[in-house]
Amino acid sequence: MKKTTGLNRSITSNWRPATRAIRGGTWRSENGETSEALFLTSGYSYDDAETVAARFAGEAEGMTYSRLQNPTVAMLEERIALMEGAEACRTQASGMAAMTAALLCQLSAGDHIVAARAAFGSCRWLVDSLLPRFGIETTVIDSAIDREWDKAIRPNTKVFFFETPANPTLDVVDLQYICDLAKLHGITTVVDNAFATSVLQRPMDFGADVVAYSATKLMDGQGRVLAGAVCGSREWIDEVLLPFQRNTGPNLSPFNAWVVLKGLETLELRAMRQSESALELGRFLEPRVARMLHPGLPSHPRHELALRQMRATGPIFAFEVPGGRQQAFALLDALELIDISNNIGDARSLMCHPASTTHANMGEEARAEMGVTEGLLRFNVGLEDIDDLKEDLDRALSAAGL
Ligand SMILES: *Cc1c(COP(=O)(O)O)cnc(C)c1O
Repeated sequence: MKKTTGLNRSITSNWRPATRAIRGGTWRSENGETSEALFLTSGYSYDDAETVAARFAGEAEGMTYSRLQNPTVAMLEERIALMEGAEACRTQASGMAAMTAALLCQLSAGDHIVAARAAFGSCRWLVDSLLPRFGIETTVIDSAIDREWDKAIRPNTKVFFFETPANPTLDVVDLQYICDLAKLHGITTVVDNAFATSVLQRPMDFGADVVAYSATKLMDGQGRVLAGAVCGSREWIDEVLLPFQRNTGPNLSPFNAWVVLKGLETLELRAMRQSESALELGRFLEPRVARMLHPGLPSHPRHELALRQMRATGPIFAFEVPGGRQQAFALLDALELIDISNNIGDARSLMCHPASTTHANMGEEARAEMGVTEGLLRFNVGLEDIDDLKEDLDRALSAAGL
């Protein structure tokens, strides 16, 4: 049966991921529109008082208020869940709103969390500065050493929190090992999958409990909106995340949800093509720089693992120039095509200096521990012609004396 209107969502179960990215979560109105409708509404009206009472009591399906549900937002949530292989998903206003919700909804004073050292600057701020203010103990470890996770576990450890590959040093975590370990100890794994998305890596296939996203990055993919998402079991989303989300209100706007829906339609094409170009540019750059951090290249310490758990290694990599900040800035300033920009996942090629931007606020010591050196540059490879990108890099490397 091909349902063209109404709220029938049952026909999607056999679809393969690429079909889900285009068709999943489409609820057509009576107009039969092909592209999802944008419902810019904060409230809803009802035929009678009984209807609204039943909806508030949870006895009838239907919208009540856009902090609780919105049709456009719900379409995006359903599509992301289908792509992820998750039972449920809820979206938030940004990646950081997603990470904050995913952690605060389940942690209380007296709990303990183990987090990866290599992480996005704001994710580290949550762990290092915010959680301890509420009496939550935190341990930060080198996530690429499996035994470090075992060693950090305490009786009150509730959550493992990590990115893989991590921002900006591309550390790769062994998903199977860490998820198995967490299960053994009743610990909830929260994986920030922003660098990969479900197209390149599906942490739930390895047993991850919660997958959280900055949808600002590859999912939108065209540098337009901020968005976040949290995926989990139906029970976890409904009983753990939703009470937090509905009452604190980090919601995604319907307009931004609609933009991300459009982004998802081309996610697979973009992620695969950008991964391919990133690999070629990584190979091109490697002989001319001091250090290359690219999970797709044999020089990465966890190259084999990355190939095992990822379909392709993504558009983002980092490299170090020997001359520190001065040489890194010289290279950036000599770029003509590639933008100096701290965003990632964009169809445009962008390069940034993490030590003075995304990781500037975390202090020199934490940066040094993470390997965010003064000569480190992070590169998001876009969809431009690879030869134009090579020419731009070649010119900038020469201008910087490399
Ligand atoms: C960008 C990013 C975030 C934060 O997402 P925003 O949408 O900018 O709030 C979190 N984690 C990782 C790995 C990121 O790259």
